[in-house]
Amino acid sequence: MIRPSVQALEPYVPGEQPKLKRIVKLNANENAYPPSPKVKDAIREFDPRRLRLYPDPGCNRLRHLLARRYGCKAESVFVGNGSDEVLRLAVDVFTRNAAPVGVFEPSYSLYPVLSAIREAPLCRVPLPNGDGELAALKVPEPKPDLFCLVNPNAPTGTIFGIEAVREFARKLAPSILLVDEAYALFAGSDCVALALEEPNVVVARTFSKAWSLAGLRVGVLVGPEPLVSALYKVKDSYNVDALAQAVAEAALSDPDWMQENVRRIVATRDRFSKALEEAGWDVTPSHANFVWCRPPENGPDAEKLQAKVRNWGFLVRRFTEPVELGSHLRISVGTDAEMDELLGLLVK
Ligand code: PMP
Repeated sequence: MIRPSVQALEPYVPGEQPKLKRIVKLNANENAYPPSPKVKDAIREFDPRRLRLYPDPGCNRLRHLLARRYGCKAESVFVGNGSDEVLRLAVDVFTRNAAPVGVFEPSYSLYPVLSAIREAPLCRVPLPNGDGELAALKVPEPKPDLFCLVNPNAPTGTIFGIEAVREFARKLAPSILLVDEAYALFAGSDCVALALEEPNVVVARTFSKAWSLAGLRVGVLVGPEPLVSALYKVKDSYNVDALAQAVAEAALSDPDWMQENVRRIVATRDRFSKALEEAGWDVTPSHANFVWCRPPENGPDAEKLQAKVRNWGFLVRRFTEPVELGSHLRISVGTDAEMDELLGLLVK
């Protein structure tokens, strides 16, 4: 016996589930490879009794290790709960009420959110095409108190050279230029020297990408001491937990491991980009761990391809704000095997 109402029922259709049990996450620019075995050791050796006590509010050991890596004083280094916290604090601390925050477009979509929270007008400047255009750029009026430049840029993967960034920073002074270098270790060049030489430049870094620790939440800012100490004034007292501090210290003690993962990802990225190009895709040369690319016009568009690969468990990113970005996919670089399989789906 089946209840008549059930017999007659049109069943509820649940939300789409990817057909495969396996998910390959290529939509958040996480690292394809695990962190150093020293990270595993540090977690195993971490004494839970330490969690009774609050962590070091200043992350002093980690700060000193980072300072040694960057060739600066510990006072020039701020440690935060992921670089997203660092960026939020920078918007809070380096802007006056109602002063604009400058961003290039397209770039990291968190900045509009951070400026909206502060009720700061957002000054959007089209992303310059190369160093010449950046160096020649007129600073917008009214001058933003803070300008955020992502380098290498997300989602395009393009990069500016340090001297072009320096010129822009000098024109912007005394306003502050924040160079968001979440992906710099994949590029092999960075603007840390600017943050140590120019009074109005700060650089944000993260353990989430090249160091394979997105789940840990540790970010860094390097810059002039007065700017760094201003951030320390307003952060949460214990913004980085004790385990995160210990694990980040362990990761930093094994830079060769990180570097080898970077080397593999860069090799895979370049091979994947070339194969897409050979199949007629428009691929922006990438200096990061993702590829910004547009499928050829005579085939399925980005939206269709995103849906197609999703059915096979591959998550890739497509932005629709502003709408022109929707013609592209941003694909994080996975392992060689993952990228080969994805390529088979994209180009056939
Ligand atoms: N900046 C950029 C440009 C990013 O793409 C990301 C990651 N989405 C971040 C900062 C934030 O990284 P995290 O908070 O994990 O350090």
